[in-house]
Amino acid sequence: MPASAPDPHRARLRIGAPLAALALALGFLLALGDDYALRLLALSGLVATTALGYQLVFGHAGAISLFQGAAFGLGAYASALIARALTSELLLTIPAAMLTAGFAALLIAPALRRLGAHAFALATLAGAEILRLVAVNWESVTGGANGVAGIPPATLVGVELPRGLALALLAWGLFALAVFGVRWFTRGPFALGLALMREAPLAAEASGIDAPRRRLALFVLSAAIGGAAGALHPFTLGTVSPEVMEIGLLITALVVTVIGGSRRPAGAVLAALLIVHLPEWLRGFEEFYLILFGALLLATVLFAPEGLVDALEERLPFRRRVPALPAATQATVALQPADRGPLLEIEGIEKRFGGVTALAGVTLALAPGEILGIIGPNGSGKTTLLNIVGGQARADAGSLRFLGRDISRLPPHRRAQAGIARSFQTPPVVPGLSALDSVAAVAPGFGTQALQEARSRGLALLEFLDLAARAQEPMTALSPGQARLVDLARALMLRPRLLLLDEPAAGLADAERAELGTALRRLADQGTALIVVEHDVEFLIPLADRLACLEAGRLIALGPPAAVRGNPAVQAAYFGAAAA
Ligand code: ADP
Ligand code: MG
Repeated sequence: MPASAPDPHRARLRIGAPLAALALALGFLLALGDDYALRLLALSGLVATTALGYQLVFGHAGAISLFQGAAFGLGAYASALIARALTSELLLTIPAAMLTAGFAALLIAPALRRLGAHAFALATLAGAEILRLVAVNWESVTGGANGVAGIPPATLVGVELPRGLALALLAWGLFALAVFGVRWFTRGPFALGLALMREAPLAAEASGIDAPRRRLALFVLSAAIGGAAGALHPFTLGTVSPEVMEIGLLITALVVTVIGGSRRPAGAVLAALLIVHLPEWLRGFEEFYLILFGALLLATVLFAPEGLVDALEERLPFRRRVPALPAATQATVALQPADRGPLLEIEGIEKRFGGVTALAGVTLALAPGEILGIIGPNGSGKTTLLNIVGGQARADAGSLRFLGRDISRLPPHRRAQAGIARSFQTPPVVPGLSALDSVAAVAPGFGTQALQEARSRGLALLEFLDLAARAQEPMTALSPGQARLVDLARALMLRPRLLLLDEPAAGLADAERAELGTALRRLADQGTALIVVEHDVEFLIPLADRLACLEAGRLIALGPPAAVRGNPAVQAAYFGAAAA
């Protein structure tokens, strides 16, 4: 290993939480007895909470929503109107504000399913703008441009909370509660699956992850948290005006998320304290204030692109030991019970890309536990065939049945859930994940307990592929051949009935290749059917039960491996071409 490579058994020291606690304690100490300072402190708590919610959609789901400011505003109006008309009991106003903001997000959410990333950003912005116009123009309810005034002080379980210290404590208490609440979503296999979704969407889908649904859940949750923060806002000022619906708060949430780090709660604390207080500290610079502010922002983006907390931890001289791995769960490689009858029936599949015919009528069937090898020159349609079975591409004609059921219209994640897994010719590499976590990302479940289970099962699969020694290393440290094996382990995590492998042996050394062959044979013996696309015929011949050869989208031979290799048409199309 080169000297510059990080020691895989050492990781960054995580100092976010103590750092944030320290900054906050200092903030309270300095603000005591000063009403204005306490109000700023309360406001920064609300900004931090809003940004924490925004981290879910922006940082974790990887979707650019421009709705977070409106969610805060909706929460503020809902809470203010209830407080004036009914009660200022926070146990009522906060949930009501969360429901209002979450419901509004749910109304916009169908756009998430249908629209691409940029269109989604615009749709959320349009939704926010409509809400602002409603706030300005629906005078009988919102008070129009004047807003809602005369809001009584907040009460918590009947106890009246004065402004000042109580409200500042409450704002940061809400933040702490929100941190505790989102942990469920930001730890465990679910969160790893989100990383896969952001960095390798094809692999995520092929692993049974319903990305639109996860994005939707996080979008609604982020809005609800923004609404909760908004619910406290009317009590800090005693009024609410359409200003809360303007773009300023959205920009603040965005800036806090970028500066603090898009997935770090501690970053939200530090950046919210900074953003809210900076105008005060820089007040002496008067008209240069905005220039200075802009320069600071730019410097952060340039020198700490992952945010302040990550940048700081990265530069610390200390490292901590990576905790030891849990024991591998045994017998995890055992797969689905064998089914009777054909597993997969491909009939008359055709696929064209513009003028190119990638597949011109392919028909074949596969039995449980069978290994079908596919060879053919480059561009003959091998990957396209796997894509059509896996759902990454749709056929123009022909039918596709799996366990007797037509699957040609199912999206990839549904096919994966039905038992079809695949590996990719170019294996997905998620920069922040270890080899083991790239595998565990596919498991269902939330929280650390589920994570332990996913990891021990993942470790058993890496052991099975003789990669356990590298389990804790970042994916970026693996060779392409090893990354491909990790991708195979990811696919096996689904306990598939049918496994589609695209050139799994490419980039492997001879010994690794032999071991891969043994592992694949063992899988088939346990009942998994395999379609293995591979250039190396010497690898396929002892492994495959049958061999197929594609040429220009046609199946020119199908049968026992030795016979297919000897077939004159195959010799001319493939071996002749290979020799040329
Ligand atoms: P193989 O895996 O056998 O090398 P492919 O299935 O990747 O071949 O490709 C078959 C043919 O279809 C090639 O001519 C390729 O250029 C074309 N093709 C594959 N995918 C696409 C695509 N997404 N868009 C356009 N052409 C494609
Ligand atoms: Mg290919």
